[in-house]
Amino acid sequence: MVRRISRRAVLRAALLGGAGAAAGVAAAPAVRSWCGWDRPPVSGGYAAAADDLGVVAHPDVNIHYRGRTSEKLVAFTFDDGPAPHWTPAVLDVLDAAGASATFFMVGRNLARHHRLVDGRLARHAIGNHSWSHPDLATLDQRQVYDELHRTHEVIREHTGRTPEVFRPPFGHLGGSAVLAADRMGYDIVLWSDEMHERSFGGDPQAQAKFIVDSVRPGSIVLAHDAGDDRRLITVDGLAAMIDGLRRRGFRLVTVPELLAANQPAEPSGPALALH
Ligand SMILES: [Zn+2]
Repeated sequence: MVRRISRRAVLRAALLGGAGAAAGVAAAPAVRSWCGWDRPPVSGGYAAAADDLGVVAHPDVNIHYRGRTSEKLVAFTFDDGPAPHWTPAVLDVLDAAGASATFFMVGRNLARHHRLVDGRLARHAIGNHSWSHPDLATLDQRQVYDELHRTHEVIREHTGRTPEVFRPPFGHLGGSAVLAADRMGYDIVLWSDEMHERSFGGDPQAQAKFIVDSVRPGSIVLAHDAGDDRRLITVDGLAAMIDGLRRRGFRLVTVPELLAANQPAEPSGPALALH
């Protein structure tokens, strides 16, 4: 399902401190109240800030947490890498299975570890996951833009690819992040399903069964290719997940491929009415 929200609505909601909840963002306290910001972004509010930043090119900000399709398509996403050991292990499983995924990269990690992914991303998509993985909801607009723009450039430099999608760290989507995504021309991608890296007693097969059973057409699945060893449950169960999903008739695609398969929205219009 796609939330197609007018920029005016987003800006208004952000101004009121409610964009995260309004956008259907998961449980996290997505947007601080106005008083939670270190300082207001720009005197005059978000609309003035957007104008000040030149955010005029994109009349809408698209926020996706699943694909809008009845086809058996699923997009696996791996956040926070590239990281030694982790990313090559994930790529090995995906390569062996001939499966595609999307890597939401942290810019400074790519700058440091780009050799890990050299020549290995052809079938995959790359997304922007900020430069240093801060809670973007605590930063002002120029700081957020710097986080995204710097990462955008390092992705282009080291992979030759231009990212089209952005996922905020922790799924925290503040008004500044929406504006920065708008300015960069990104779609914002959250998730509908996730690995439970601290559950299942560390049993990869149980984790795999959970994912295989719970994925639906259009699911976007959150996983990580960096972090602590509990996340091995994902790597160790990944082949079984792919196999099980294929037995159910699913095809693993990248997020851009999933979104390209979106079926038209209901004529009843946008899901949000915040005007
Ligand atoms: Zn992350």
